[in-house]
Amino acid sequence: MKSVYFFGNKKADGNADMKNLLGGKGANLAEMTNLGIAVPAGFTITTEVCTYYYQNAQSFPQDLDKQVKLSIKKVEQAMRKKFGDKKDPLLLSVRSGARMSMPGMMETVLNIGLTSKTIPGIIAKTDNSRFVYDAYRRLIMMYADVVMEKSAGIEPQEGHGIRHQLEKILNLYKKEKKYKSDIDLSGEDWKIITEKFKLRIKKVLGGEFPDDPYEQLWGGIKAVFQSWNGKRAISYRRIENIPGEWGTAVNVQAMVFGNTGDLSATGVAFTRNPATGSNQFYGEWLKNAQGEDVVAGIRTPQPLNEATKTTASIHLESLESFLPDIYLELNTIRKNLEQHYRDMQDIEFTIEEGKLWMLQTRTGKRTGGAAITIAVDMVNEKLISKEEGIMRVSPNQIDELLHPRLDIKEEKSAEVVAKGLPAGPGGGVGQVVFTPDDAEAWAKEGKKVILVREETSPEDVHGMHAAEAILTAKGGMTSHAALVARGWGKCCIVGCADLNINYDNKEITIKNTLIKEGDWVSMNGSKGVVYLGQVTLQPADPESNNAYRELMSWADNIRILKVRTNADSPEDSKQAIAFGAEGIGLCRTEHMFFDPKRIMGMRKMILAESEHERRSAVMELLPYQRKDFIGILNTMAGKPVTIRLLDPPLHEFIQLNDIQVKDLANELNVTEQKIRDRIASLHEFNPMLGHRGCRLGIAYPEITEMQARAIFEATADLIGKGINVMPEVMVPLVGTNTEFENQEVIIRNIADTVMKEKKISFHYIIGTMIELPRACLTADEIAEHAEFFSFGTNDLTQTTYGFSRDDIGGFLPGYLEQNIFSKDPFQSLDKAGVGKLISMAVTKGRSVRKNLKIGICGEHGGDPASVEFCHQNGLDYVSCSPFRVPIARFAAAQAAIKYRD
Ligand code: ADP
Ligand code: MG
Ligand code: MG
Repeated sequence: MKSVYFFGNKKADGNADMKNLLGGKGANLAEMTNLGIAVPAGFTITTEVCTYYYQNAQSFPQDLDKQVKLSIKKVEQAMRKKFGDKKDPLLLSVRSGARMSMPGMMETVLNIGLTSKTIPGIIAKTDNSRFVYDAYRRLIMMYADVVMEKSAGIEPQEGHGIRHQLEKILNLYKKEKKYKSDIDLSGEDWKIITEKFKLRIKKVLGGEFPDDPYEQLWGGIKAVFQSWNGKRAISYRRIENIPGEWGTAVNVQAMVFGNTGDLSATGVAFTRNPATGSNQFYGEWLKNAQGEDVVAGIRTPQPLNEATKTTASIHLESLESFLPDIYLELNTIRKNLEQHYRDMQDIEFTIEEGKLWMLQTRTGKRTGGAAITIAVDMVNEKLISKEEGIMRVSPNQIDELLHPRLDIKEEKSAEVVAKGLPAGPGGGVGQVVFTPDDAEAWAKEGKKVILVREETSPEDVHGMHAAEAILTAKGGMTSHAALVARGWGKCCIVGCADLNINYDNKEITIKNTLIKEGDWVSMNGSKGVVYLGQVTLQPADPESNNAYRELMSWADNIRILKVRTNADSPEDSKQAIAFGAEGIGLCRTEHMFFDPKRIMGMRKMILAESEHERRSAVMELLPYQRKDFIGILNTMAGKPVTIRLLDPPLHEFIQLNDIQVKDLANELNVTEQKIRDRIASLHEFNPMLGHRGCRLGIAYPEITEMQARAIFEATADLIGKGINVMPEVMVPLVGTNTEFENQEVIIRNIADTVMKEKKISFHYIIGTMIELPRACLTADEIAEHAEFFSFGTNDLTQTTYGFSRDDIGGFLPGYLEQNIFSKDPFQSLDKAGVGKLISMAVTKGRSVRKNLKIGICGEHGGDPASVEFCHQNGLDYVSCSPFRVPIARFAAAQAAIKYRD
């Protein structure tokens, strides 16, 4: 078995396609070598050896030793130095490298091969004892930390690790000598420090630091394999879903030195700016430095070139001005690497006495804005196709542009006080208030407020609207607060169980922290984290971003799925159109009744005791509804609008306090007791499964009649004015074809009546929301009459699993933690179960009605993985809240590309 792959002298055994075997770092070192780029020679021990190591009681394959020795020979030839040689020794680095980069998770040991025998030789050769002892102290520190402590399984207390202890020794020494920077230390100083280091290591860890080059090398190799199963690596893999079987590779490579003097340096760079995406070479470097010095923060790194200097770095010397030839060479490599890899690269380099060496290249991480700019630029530079450009950007990166966000740097140093579910994305900063009325009043005074509630209800909506962000102690991702906030694109965190809210004192306790009314908090609704104090908020303005607009126009050309929005006001509809919505997929009519003026009519209707009374109460609502529909249909002219008939359990409208009971009794001219009795009689044990949906319209046909009339009168009115409106009437919560047919007759009758009355004809369709398993199972029967289906996947998920979406806060977090569920099924569609019902309903429905229009209008309509599912199952459209529309458009394009035949 070939376990070792050599690279050096412009030829490598491996290449970039062999990441599984050689790890990302090793594969790319091989690729760069093959491209003729100067890479210090070395070799990669494969990930298969790592697997072997763990399957065979932490031992190596028999001939590994032989293969390693042979490869070292080749490295020696390429670098013209010998490992362990007294006069001119080769030094090596041992570097980990998994398939997927796991930044900071695994280990590197530099300067292997420095021993009491080799040190004098290098000093004589370089005439630079400072450099040699600086390198030696680094070796001792890394080796003690990585090999002697971590890989030996020693777990010191936080801040007591050997690296920390050695750093303390160094700092103390610098203080005594009044040195400001590492640069001030002489060779003699470093020598003294290495002696101190070795003594401390022996005292703390019990063993000697090895003085044999091969012992150092094998110690390093083993430690890297060992680090694959270190605590940090395991938990990182769990978060990132990286399988444990993958293993890591080990790269052994000739050392080159950035710390031999002022003509030497080390640096890291991105081939384009990773924060903005602009096509500028962007990086940092340090003179006379090695390894992680640039990122370690001990010295201030310098800017790579003049163009990227900032006010903070204006006085620092750039590589471009200090070593112009080398900078040009590096810039050429930058261009070659981008041409070759066709993506932005993150590179590491070292300059030794005026010679440039490349030490690493990989695809660079970037912000959402940068990802979009880079993708669009690269398409326009003809480096990649439009399809590739679209696939390069993740829907989450699109989302980053749609909401104001907390300043990333400030957020890092802010104090976390609580964590909850990330229900509404973006950032929110404000002063804490506890009631919707306070939220509204404070906002009117120009204050920015965060509304904190146990949970929210429809009656809190005015305060929620006034608030910058919403924070609740209870509820899941589809709780009232979450739905409303997402609909507005507002920052929201729900299910924040650590909050102990005391409404009487207007304060929250979170463990030991007390937050009072008026205190400032900052929230990251994309991550679900609450911070104490004020973090700066950066505004969102996607449409001003040319790259965003261009990328989205490509996506729109490629996608097959249409994208609609869930909206129930002209304002939301306008917002959604601005975001690219092509219609309304769900207009919830009940939201229109929470207005204080209308809710009285609604209550009268609900509490009415005879049909006659009810009919007259309902008819009071007609003008309001008609006006609503005129507004929405007009805004959406030329686009389809699906209007759902009244859906929620009636008791939601009659949770009354004493004053409201009294008012209502006066209005209806009955006793308060009578009102209370009637409310009591409407009580349901499980309202989610109670008298709601089409069951209301069947029991009280006058409700359906009124709503249908409002829709059709609005339609007739607008058609009469020459405005093209396309209403689609949707009957909710249908479980049987008979339920649907019952409502259909009523609706069609009203349509005919209105047409006759207004002497005008118009087009409309009637369909149903599919949100019960029985509806899916009998979709063919329902489709005999229904002209469209819209999957209400919130309720369908609830009824398929048999758990209430308002109560999942109790067990879902535990399920996710224990990996019983990998995702919240209310957020990302459960393809295996709920998805199967949907597929079945699509097939059955279209088997009797070929052109059955099918969409989805649950929260899943804006979830990229669910959008992909809808594409695969041949749905016509997805519908989601206005702020998710761009994400759905983009996800639909990615699905179309992914499943193109
Ligand atoms: P990571 O995976 O954490 O990036 P690396 O293996 O890239 O770790 O090593 C960290 C740093 O060590 C590199 O950025 C580089 O500065 C230095 N380094 C690694 N190998 C060598 C080498 N052969 N010569 C000089 N420096 C090296
Ligand atoms: Mg690196
Ligand atoms: Mg529903």
